[in-house]
Amino acid sequence: MKQLSQYLIWLVLITAMLLGSFALGCKSDEKVTPQLDALSDAQLLPKPSPTNEPDPTTSFINVISADSTVDFPASLTFNLEAESSHEITDIELRYTIEKVTVTSVTTTIKPDFVTGIHVITRWRWDTRKFDLPPGARINYKWIVTNNTGDKLETESATLIFEDSRHSWSELAEENVRLLWYKGDATFGQELMDAAQTALAKLAQDTGAKLEREARIYIYGDTDELHEALIYPQEWTGGLAFTDYGIIVIGISTDRLSWGKRTIAHELSHLVIHQMTYNPLSNVPTWIDEGLAMFTEGGLRDDLADNLDDALEDDTLFPVRSLGGSFPTDSEEAGLAYAQSYSLVSFLIENYGSEKMMALLELLKQGNSYDDALLEIYEFDVDGLDEEWRTSLGLQPNRIAVSSRYTFTV
Ligand SMILES: [Zn+2]
Repeated sequence: MKQLSQYLIWLVLITAMLLGSFALGCKSDEKVTPQLDALSDAQLLPKPSPTNEPDPTTSFINVISADSTVDFPASLTFNLEAESSHEITDIELRYTIEKVTVTSVTTTIKPDFVTGIHVITRWRWDTRKFDLPPGARINYKWIVTNNTGDKLETESATLIFEDSRHSWSELAEENVRLLWYKGDATFGQELMDAAQTALAKLAQDTGAKLEREARIYIYGDTDELHEALIYPQEWTGGLAFTDYGIIVIGISTDRLSWGKRTIAHELSHLVIHQMTYNPLSNVPTWIDEGLAMFTEGGLRDDLADNLDDALEDDTLFPVRSLGGSFPTDSEEAGLAYAQSYSLVSFLIENYGSEKMMALLELLKQGNSYDDALLEIYEFDVDGLDEEWRTSLGLQPNRIAVSSRYTFTV
């Protein structure tokens, strides 16, 4: 019985303690009651109508990856993966082709994508429709917008339209970067030396200097050059993309001397373009081509023969006809080039390189070349025709003289 009574006492005590702790527990619960009450009050308030209005204060946009791939010469592709706290509703790609002299134009592209908080998009640029040379540089950025109006603009990135089908070796000297993949280091160095010699000669004869870096891509031969061009002319051995500061030439290792001449020729076009660029006027073709051939170091034998034949038959073109495009017929084109060389040589050798420099400077300022010639040499283009023909032992060109009268009237 005593054991039973002790047991009961313990039972009562334990029960009392449990009740006590429960009471304490309730007390502790009471401490949080205000919060619970507040919640309850809130629940009693009329509920705001449900809305999809995003909260701009919590908005973020992350670019997970942004890159580009080049498939030379066919296309290049821009890729973007982005995420946001809110639905991404707009994506823009803006790109600018880097050009030496022409004012840059920014193009905006809106690539297709499925709206959402995580988006992947890409835009493929079919470069076959453009005259984009190897080494062209494209600056681009993405602008991502979500439905709060929040925008993310990526840092501007530069993509180089490299022809990675070849393993290029590279040499850089002064303002020239030369890239080639066939031929050894000596081959590359000889071509670089030719480029530097041509620049020195140009500076001496015309005062013209490279204002920005020129990049020269030497392809293994003419066929491989043509594979890199979208619409190559059959006769194209070398090209100067003057707006890009890029030259492309196909030079096989057994045509080194031709290659050196061609580098000099194309570099001259690049320098003259940089030096005289003016959106309102062009340098007449005979000055541009004449200087390029003068920089080569002399007239090619076949073209010299063309000139001799025309001198003998008195079938030279009037100088005024050589200001624009040259004839497409190869024989006639050959004569047009030969005459251009002869005219530029005549001006530099008889009147000095300072006057040629001054002439280029006036052309840069946008003067017509008749006016520029008159100011520097005191004859216009028909007067030049007359002086030049006389120097070759010919009578003045009747067409040139009559056109001068027409011109002055
Ligand atoms: Zn040329």
